[in-house]
Amino acid sequence: MIMSEKSKQHVDSCRFCWMCHHICPIGNATGHERSTPRARALGISMVNRGAIDLSEIMDNIYECAGCGACVRDCVTGWDPVMFTKEVRLQAALEDKLPTYINTLVDNCLESGNAYGKTALCDKLSEAIAAHADKTDTLLYLGVDARYMACEQAVKAIKVLEKAGVKFTVLADEAASGNQLDFLIGAAEETKEQMAAAAKVMNGYKTVVIYDPADAKTVKQTYGEYGIELECKAVTYTAYLAELVKSGALKGEKSGKTVVFQDPCQLARDLEETEEAREVVKAFADLDEMLLNRGETVWAGNILMAQYIPDVMKLVAERRIFNAKSIGKTAMVTASVSEYVSLKNVEQNDVEILSLEDLILG
Ligand code: SF4
Ligand code: SF4
Repeated sequence: MIMSEKSKQHVDSCRFCWMCHHICPIGNATGHERSTPRARALGISMVNRGAIDLSEIMDNIYECAGCGACVRDCVTGWDPVMFTKEVRLQAALEDKLPTYINTLVDNCLESGNAYGKTALCDKLSEAIAAHADKTDTLLYLGVDARYMACEQAVKAIKVLEKAGVKFTVLADEAASGNQLDFLIGAAEETKEQMAAAAKVMNGYKTVVIYDPADAKTVKQTYGEYGIELECKAVTYTAYLAELVKSGALKGEKSGKTVVFQDPCQLARDLEETEEAREVVKAFADLDEMLLNRGETVWAGNILMAQYIPDVMKLVAERRIFNAKSIGKTAMVTASVSEYVSLKNVEQNDVEILSLEDLILG
């Protein structure tokens, strides 16, 4: 397998190291050593040495959520996310992707989303139609909200309406490239999708990005891949925090005491942790999870639930248990994908709320 010297160095450093295996949400959910960063590195190193074929480790390669917990924890600065993404790209180039990943990739290329969806729900179509006129500000919803959690997408629109913002939402939104980047890394197809989305975004002064996964891609990965962004890209949470601060979005205490589930993309990639807390504090009393801010534990996503749904359920159950075990009864999330993942767990101990649920009451 062709692999950069940099990734090979990281792989060989991780393969016999146990230091971060206890913090991987996937490894903790499955209980399998093979799911941990170091075991993934060991498998890759065996491919690099010709002991096994790349196709034999591909299921394991797609178990990584890219949540970055291992990268943050590594005191020596090694990066399992980097080498895992490189292997995904190489597998795509060598035509060794698992069938279930090929299907998701094909869907991304054909319909702009991994789920192969083409139609929005009626309520969302209506809400979008009310914001069809061009303004300076684009609300970018992202494919998870548009196709897999349309009620949340409608609520995201309603919150900005409540604050009196003039904004545009596109009926035909270009994919950010986030899903392709997760599935096949820095492939030409990924960059082409990103460039097409950036071209649309550059037609606005400000782009408010609802989904933290898209926000990380647009605000961070675009720069790494040489995609030019001329607009001001802000996360939905940071935008709401400004609206609260200016008084446009008036706080109203709900009487609830909640903990905030930091999305890993906001807390670790973009180092944005306080903005969402400012919004939460305007509508509820804020408490903290045991592992919060940069130490957050990822709670699952919609994309990986397409191929390992049972693992996603276990991941979400464990995060809910984190809140329950310290006596918390309500959790607010700012990630639409984590919201769906947490809501999929059948339980009555911890109320799961989105930021929009909290604001709209
Ligand atoms: S990322 Fe760091 S702590 Fe984790 S396995 Fe690699 S070397 Fe060890
Ligand atoms: S990025 Fe997250 S899911 Fe992937 S190996 Fe590291 S801790 Fe595990």
